[in-house]
Parts: sequence; structure tokens; C-alpha cells
Amino acid sequence: MREQPLIYLDHNATTPVEPQVVEAMLPFFSQYFGNPSSLNHSLGWQAEAAIEKAREQLAAAINAEPVEIVFTSGATEANNLAIKGVAESYMADGQHIITVETEHSAVLEPCRYLERLGFSVTYLPVQPDGLVRLADLEQAFRPETILVSIMTANNEIGVLQPIDKIGALCRDRNVIFHTDAAQALGKVALDVQAMNIDLLSMTAHKLYGPKGIGALYVRRKNPQVRLAPQMHGGGQERGLRSGTLYTPQIVGLGMAVSLMVAGQPQETSRQAGLRDRLWQSVQALPNIHLNGHPTQRLANNLSVSIEGVNGTDLLSKLRHQVALSSGSACSAQKTSPSHVIKALGRNDSLAKATLRLGLGKGTTAEEIDRASAAVVSAVRSLRAIR
Ligand SMILES: *Cc1c(COP(=O)(O)O)cnc(C)c1O
Repeated sequence: MREQPLIYLDHNATTPVEPQVVEAMLPFFSQYFGNPSSLNHSLGWQAEAAIEKAREQLAAAINAEPVEIVFTSGATEANNLAIKGVAESYMADGQHIITVETEHSAVLEPCRYLERLGFSVTYLPVQPDGLVRLADLEQAFRPETILVSIMTANNEIGVLQPIDKIGALCRDRNVIFHTDAAQALGKVALDVQAMNIDLLSMTAHKLYGPKGIGALYVRRKNPQVRLAPQMHGGGQERGLRSGTLYTPQIVGLGMAVSLMVAGQPQETSRQAGLRDRLWQSVQALPNIHLNGHPTQRLANNLSVSIEGVNGTDLLSKLRHQVALSSGSACSAQKTSPSHVIKALGRNDSLAKATLRLGLGKGTTAEEIDRASAAVVSAVRSLRAIR
């Protein structure tokens, strides 16, 4: 039998860099290599101009002002800056933070770190469909609550939280609202004004940009959010994030975001169609469960848990046909079941027998059909030998 190429369905872990993005980045390695802070010569100005253009591209994508964008090394750093930066800056007003059990570890771990420093954190549960109950959030507010951090789209199950409603609840109480939008940016419409978002984390490598670059949106007015910097040095990024700006990566981020936003409506409906086709086909298997809300979810994510198979065996059987993961790319190394799938109420063995199928721009209907056939036959053969 002819060897079939590997089908890449791990776009929630990372994406390939778009050729147009690579092309935009290339001149900034060796030709326009100046330090964007060197404002005494044209090499510095050229780099600075390219960075300002990227800042405008990012701001436009979320209805912010360019000065409200702070470049970071990715969403992990943006989340750390948002959460620790607010905690340190507002600790005299209160030391209580609200987040959700299904957040990415780049939100949960900074929260746990702050707990060790004496802050208290409420981890809201989710409903079986992965959505936060707004009444639970309303009850969790305390007079000393300074921050709510709730992701826009979940990286494992694709669920979209009602961030506009969450933003409104936070604004009513004068509590700062941070959202990790690493998976959502460029896939769903985001508007920091309409949604009352004060801090928003982004990353390039989930939207066909390079790895190692991202940004944090920091609201400047109504109200102004004060952040304690987490990286001290030369005072770049208005003192919020020191370090020489990484011009090629920033140019790539800006280009990737604007391409993504421009293609978003068509690409979202195309991928949603393929995602639904995939879900239809894998339902040929009895006892397969969809994780997360059936419609309030990203178009490019399908997460399923399958009864009667060992998760490790299933993944190793599929390895040479389909590139996918079980939970998040980071928790995939661990043997423990995903905290996200567990939070939906699934037991350990079902949580381990979870496939996260992440579609992308390059995914075709033919690949979807081959992937679903591979999953169905792998599960059938594993069930047969039990
Ligand atoms: C990928 C991801 C991150 C981490 O982003 P990096 O840029 O890799 O640091 C954080 N949060 C979510 C929701 C993600 O999907």
C-alpha cells in the first residue's frame, strides 16, 4: 500500500507560517536590521516604522489604539504580565482573583503562584458543555476582587465563553477583565470596546505567524489599567516590557493577524463545514461523545472522547496517519488526564481517550474523510481486541 502523507489536525497546538508572512519578515533580519530604539539613523527608523505598522494591524483587529499594544514573547508571557502585573499593581485595593478551572496553564500557574504569595483565587467550575455559568461568576465577586481572567476560546475543546456578558459584569463592578484570546484572535470577531475587555492576550503561532511572538492589549482609558512590569530593563514598550523589540517576528505577527482577519468569515464557515462533516463521520462509532458546547465553539476544533479504548493505544495507532493530540500540547507529555476534560465531568479513562482534532486553512475535505476513516478503523480494531 502506498504511504499516505500525514494529515495535520493539530492546528490548536500550532500552525505553519503563511508564505506571505515569511516574505514580509525576511528583509528585517539582515537588511533593515536596526534597533527600533535607535532613533538617530534611518536603520532605526525603518525598524521602528515596521513595528508601528504591526501595532496598528493588531489594534485594528480588536478595535483598540496602537499605544495599547505591548509586544511580548507570546501568550504565556502576555498572560503572566496581565495577571501578575495587575496583582502587584492593585494589591492595596484587594487580593482576590477569579478565573476558571478550564483555563490554559499559562493562566492557572500565575494564579497558583499568586496564591503562594497570599492572594486568594476562585476557580469557577464549568457546566458539562464547558461554559461558565454567569450566576456563578456573579456570586464569586467580593469587595476585594481586583481581576477576572476568563479565556475567549478554549484550546482543548474550542468552547467560546460569553465574554461580552462577562465583560459587562466586570465593568459594572469596576473589576479588571483579562481574556486569553490566543485561540480566538482572527477566528471570531473581537472588540475590546463593545466587550468591555481591559487586557487581552494574543500569540502569532496559532494564526499562521511565527512562534515566540505575541502581544498584550492594555486598556489606556475608561479606565486606564496600571500594570507592574514583569521584565525590567531599558524601558521599551512604555516601561511595561523591556528588551529590544524583535522586529522580524513583530512584522510577521502584524501580517499574520491582518491576513487572518481579512479571510475570517469565509474561512470560518468553510472550516465549520469540514468540522461538522468530521463529527458526522466519526459518529459511525457507538459511544463517542462530543466535548464542549455543540455550537458555541471554534470552527476549527472538534474534541471527542471515546468509550471502550485506551487513550494511549489509540493515539499510538493513529500517529502515522493523523497528527493530532489528546489534550493540550503541553499536557500531552503528562500521563495524567486533561484538567479541561475532567472539568466537564468525564472520568479518567474517558478523559484519556480524547482526541482533539484541530482544523486549519490547509485542511481539505479529502483529508477529513481520510482522518475520520483512520479514527473509526483504529477504534474498531482496539475495541475488537478487548
Ligand atoms: C497556545 C496558547 C497559549 C500559549 O501561547 P504561547 O504563545 O505558546 O506562549 C496560551 N493560551 C492559550 C489559550 C493557547 O492556546
